Amino acid sequence: MSITKGYAVQEATSPLVPFNFERREVRPHDVQIEILYCGVCHSDIHQVRGEWGNSIYPMVPGHEIVGRVTAVGHHVKNFTVGDLAGVGCLVDSCQTCPSCQQGLEQFCDTGMVGTYNSLDKEGQITYGGYSTQIVVDEKFTLKVSDKLPLAGVAPLLCAGITTYSPLRYVGVKKGDKVAVLGLGGLGHMAVKFAVAFGAEVTMLSSSPSKKEDALKLGAHHFALTSDEATMNSLASSFDYILNTVSAQHDYNTYLNLLRVNGTMIIVGVPPAPTPVHAFPLIMKRRSIIGSLIGGIAETQEMLDFCAEHNIVSEVEVINMDYINEAYERMLKSDVRYRFVIDLASLK
Ligand code: NAP
Ligand code: ZN
Repeated sequence: MSITKGYAVQEATSPLVPFNFERREVRPHDVQIEILYCGVCHSDIHQVRGEWGNSIYPMVPGHEIVGRVTAVGHHVKNFTVGDLAGVGCLVDSCQTCPSCQQGLEQFCDTGMVGTYNSLDKEGQITYGGYSTQIVVDEKFTLKVSDKLPLAGVAPLLCAGITTYSPLRYVGVKKGDKVAVLGLGGLGHMAVKFAVAFGAEVTMLSSSPSKKEDALKLGAHHFALTSDEATMNSLASSFDYILNTVSAQHDYNTYLNLLRVNGTMIIVGVPPAPTPVHAFPLIMKRRSIIGSLIGGIAETQEMLDFCAEHNIVSEVEVINMDYINEAYERMLKSDVRYRFVIDLASLK
């Protein structure tokens, strides 16, 4: 067992504080990674604060991990010591059910093992990337290019794949009109991918101060969601809306912005249910779908796409001991556009 330094919460109402714990020894198929950077996802806040009803404490959050391989098990084929590597939201799955066989490990019939806030196959709590090192089966370890700035790569492991995957699934292509709702960690990656896929992109935001940034990120248009006249003018205009909002809001208002056969893709996970009326759906045969991160093969495809197209997350690099303030700022929509922890600050 190796002692690892991390930051954890002990209960939903506590702040994150230093926490030492043990990682497993490297098994034949395992890769041990010294964590260099870990992104801060809004899902970390939801789970730390027990908002989804699935929290296991103590909890060491973090599922946007990049680092350097420090040891490999003797059956490991694809990684050697010194390689860059990434770990996203999942570290195991049954690998035999139909979903796993299709590369959709996130939908594993027996439940994927999350990088944190999960129990592994031995019944041990998994601890995430707000820590100095991690040990992961190589099947769930991603190859990371050395062409991109590493801090900007970390958020690709969740914010990146969560937005890339549904845009690919619905087949966004040149000329499609795509709206992205909510300009945070997921939202800014959604803009970059939708633009890269050739769409005409509109940013729908509740923050007037983000207009300039949205356009810099590549969005063609910006609309303030509180501006009733603008919202009315956008009725029935989009093929897709990628909804990344983390807090309670009215889905119906945004459904009305979709064209005939338009689709709203839900990736944001507000803690409480939201009523959906039948009318905005039936009037133009609109639909709502959801999407959860992405499988391992698609995550690798996304990382390779980003390396090829020079796509990274816009980040504010922080020290580990800034994490509680970072959460407060995210709750005020004050993040441009992803906090990333420099784990050198914890060593
Ligand atoms: P984030 O960086 O905090 O961004 C959320 C954005 O939502 C904010 O920047 C803000 O954008 C908007 N927003 C926040 N509060 C709002 C409110 N009261 N009304 C309207 N808009 C509001 O969060 P994130 O890390 O991108 O995560 C977003 C959501 O996706 C979270 O619920 C997270 O748990 C979920 N998530 C889902 C998956 C998945 O697999 N489906 C994966 C990762 C994360 P504006 O300032 O532009 O309005
Ligand atoms: Zn996440």
